[in-house]
Amino acid sequence: MTNNIDLLVIGSGISGLSACMEAKKKFNNILIIDKGFHIGGRICSKNLNNIYFNHGAPFICRSKIKKSLSFFNLLKHNKNISRTVIKKNCNKSQIVYYPSPMMRSFFDDFNNKVIIKQKTKAINIERDGNFFTVNCSDNKFIIAKKIVLSVPAPQASELIQKINPQIVNEINKIKYSKCLAILIAFDQKVDIPKYSFFEDESGDLSTLFCGITFSNYQTNSVVIRMSNKWSEINFEYDKEIIIRKCLLLLSKKITHFKKYNVNSTYCHKWRYSQVTNWLSPSIPNVSKDKSIGFAGDWTVGPTIEDAFISGKKVVKNLL
Ligand SMILES: Cc1cc2nc3c(=O)[nH]c(=O)nc-3n(C[C@H](O)[C@H](O)[C@H](O)COP(=O)(O)OP(=O)(O)OC[C@H]3O[C@@H](n4cnc5c(N)ncnc54)[C@H](O)[C@@H]3O)c2cc1C
Repeated sequence: MTNNIDLLVIGSGISGLSACMEAKKKFNNILIIDKGFHIGGRICSKNLNNIYFNHGAPFICRSKIKKSLSFFNLLKHNKNISRTVIKKNCNKSQIVYYPSPMMRSFFDDFNNKVIIKQKTKAINIERDGNFFTVNCSDNKFIIAKKIVLSVPAPQASELIQKINPQIVNEINKIKYSKCLAILIAFDQKVDIPKYSFFEDESGDLSTLFCGITFSNYQTNSVVIRMSNKWSEINFEYDKEIIIRKCLLLLSKKITHFKKYNVNSTYCHKWRYSQVTNWLSPSIPNVSKDKSIGFAGDWTVGPTIEDAFISGKKVVKNLL
């Protein structure tokens, strides 16, 4: 059993981390738990046979809803972050940021500043007077005075059911796009574009994002993110079938694709990729007694900056 926690943050994605950094100004004992192996949630990288792939968010995007000076400063002072301009299909340019050598490097700066228990899933939350008891996957309990739930909406809805049923209806209205990410390792460096967007009329391939950094034009690893439409239609297929369909599409799009040998492949299914609608600003993100609050992209908007803003916002409202 872990006692004496002033604030427990469930989820170590960017929203949970930003909540934790904000909370450090006002709370003493703060703990983050996360069910995953690594900090960062959907900003992630995967190691397959010693090749790294960024299989989640490929870029850090600024918010279109609200800009945050702290987020800008975070990007500015993070030694791993660079800036680039991407062109979307509609020919519109967008400034985006990316960490090197991989997406996960974004969090190198956080590691010594917060206490995180990874591989610890919150199973349920109960209220006992002024305290919450969180039952975790390791059969241990955490007793906390206040909680920030920074997990995706469906998980938040499950965890909150018993203690704040009024908000469940609102959370259940949140929708996400699905994304199938196909990771391909070739046996040699391949000459395919650094990144390109293929959201064409067929709506099949969404993004072809090569390599783990932008510094290497030639790479032997690519991540193909299939479009929302394609992912929705094919989501429930077996992963092997999905990979085969993707390779077939790729060989049609890139004429010289067939000359490369594929060494290994992997398919990651993102059931909750990016939010397509989020909590109305009129819905409070904390309970009436300010003991439990929600953060996450689904409470503010679809970009990484929105998720970051949500963490700071929830802590301010919990005080
Ligand atoms: C394929 C893909 C492409 C994307 N592209 C972009 C892009 O180009 N630009 C951009 O800005 N954004 C992009 N996004 C969206 C962006 O990644 C998210 O908006 C952002 O990372 C959300 O952060 P978060 O903290 O709200 O949630 P998450 O990062 O999902 O963090 C939630 C954390 O909660 C943990 N968790 C869940 N349930 C439990 C539980 N019961 N107990 C303990 N822990 C739990 C999870 O393990 C996770 O670490 C993309 C996302 C995906 C998947």
